Amino acid sequence: MTNIVDTPCMRTHRLRLVVLAFVLALSVPTLCLLSGCSDTAEGSGPDSLLVVIDAGHGGRDPGAICEGVHEADVNLAVADRVANLIEADKRFDVRMTRTLDIYVTLESRIAVANDGDAALYLSIQSNACEEYPDASGVVTLVSDALDADAPSWQFAEVLQDAVTDVTGARDRGVLAQELYLHAAEMPAALIEVGFLTNDDERAQLTDPDYQQTVAQGIYEGIVAYLEYAERSR
Ligand SMILES: [Zn+2]
Repeated sequence: MTNIVDTPCMRTHRLRLVVLAFVLALSVPTLCLLSGCSDTAEGSGPDSLLVVIDAGHGGRDPGAICEGVHEADVNLAVADRVANLIEADKRFDVRMTRTLDIYVTLESRIAVANDGDAALYLSIQSNACEEYPDASGVVTLVSDALDADAPSWQFAEVLQDAVTDVTGARDRGVLAQELYLHAAEMPAALIEVGFLTNDDERAQLTDPDYQQTVAQGIYEGIVAYLEYAERSR
């Protein structure tokens, strides 16, 4: 641009810009964690929020087995994709409870999050219902040991919305169940991304494109919740 004249109008804009800059400067400490401003160019810095992603089951515990599809494998495929999306986002660190088809105790899974002082814990699983093979959809679970206003409920609700929005899958809502998640010291949830006993959903969940779509929804839910939590601090 050329020929910029310093008119009164421009001065008004400048004043507004100065005020805006001042407001932004005050907001920087709040936004810092999520903006990644303390990150190194190579990746996450000490202030990055750690997200722990758990691929349910594994090894001698395959989870549900339907038409030769092992739940543990589907869970790991989706979890891997979620971890990759989080890893590419410099605001966050990610750790997986398993990256191979191996058995890991529930206590060890939670310990990864508690010992790492994680901001979030999410277990990714797939559902099965032999009795009703038409059952379908996504459901997110939280520990029934929580109060109704616990952050885990908020995380679960945001996550459930994001995944059903992105996938278009049936929304089965958020439910409380007796779960090992009660030992988590941070917001924690378990998402069942679909039913392996449903022929259509089993075909979707073994399709890499759909796995990526589910992963994108999970990633968006995680980011939306962490941004909300940061603003609410
Ligand atoms: Zn499972």
